[in-house]
Amino acid sequence: MSTLEIRDLKVSVKLPEGQLKPILDGVNLTVGSGQTHAIMGPNGSGKSTLAYSIAGHPKYEITSGSVTLDGEDVLAMSVDERARAGLFLAMQYPVEVPGVSVANFLRTAKTAIDGTAPKLRTWGGELRGAMERLQMDPAFAQRNVNEGFSGGEKKRHEIVQLELLKPKIAILDETDSGLDVDALRVVSEGVNRVRDTGDTGLLLITHYTRILRYIKPDFVHVFVAGRIVEQGGPELADKLEAEGYERYAAGAGSAR
Ligand code: ADP
Ligand code: MG
Ligand code: MG
Repeated sequence: MSTLEIRDLKVSVKLPEGQLKPILDGVNLTVGSGQTHAIMGPNGSGKSTLAYSIAGHPKYEITSGSVTLDGEDVLAMSVDERARAGLFLAMQYPVEVPGVSVANFLRTAKTAIDGTAPKLRTWGGELRGAMERLQMDPAFAQRNVNEGFSGGEKKRHEIVQLELLKPKIAILDETDSGLDVDALRVVSEGVNRVRDTGDTGLLLITHYTRILRYIKPDFVHVFVAGRIVEQGGPELADKLEAEGYERYAAGAGSAR
């Protein structure tokens, strides 16, 4: 059992001119392994900032608060250390990795996280199996990471990583964006397989409710203007689908 604890997290983005623009305004959230949390909110409310802050992106400055994984200070860790500690951040490898194939990338990541190389005898089968379950062409393993990947291929690659790396806590930011309905179903089934192991805590960040028709969250958090303004169970997602975010905007100010 693992727990990610976010306490009173305040974060500013570093603007090119050097000023800080406050975005997160005191976020409190606890995610346990085996739980699925959805963070839902309008565009520009700071959802990705939350994900990037936990990932350790250098553009964001933590101005107060804490993030711990099983009591360990995540904010003091390097990006690599965060991954080794068991945090999976889907946006961690958004860039092309020239000359590194998907197969090599996954093996290197698995080795880094486990501390030992996966057994050659079983690894190939695991990789093929994970790709097959996500309905990916086996030839995909030989392509360079993210080079010319379509939106759907990027997301499938994310979920293959998730299945193979078996993190304690995974944060998926807008995993549903840009997917057609078939890809959304395949990707959601992958997320549900990870969820059903009971070993991984999932934080799904999304603007739209549609992915939550496939992945049932245990908890829904409404995120507006840099903070959580309402929490509930899966029924809260249905309410958001019907009513949108407008009713939060009046009290919360700037959120679009
Ligand atoms: P969301 O993911 O909810 O759409 P973001 O976290 O991407 O929200 O953005 C939150 C706010 O922070 C927005 O107003 C956005 O314009 C601003 N912001 C985020 N990153 C930067 C940046 N690098 N430079 C300037 N403003 C930024
Ligand atoms: Mg956005
Ligand atoms: Mg975002």
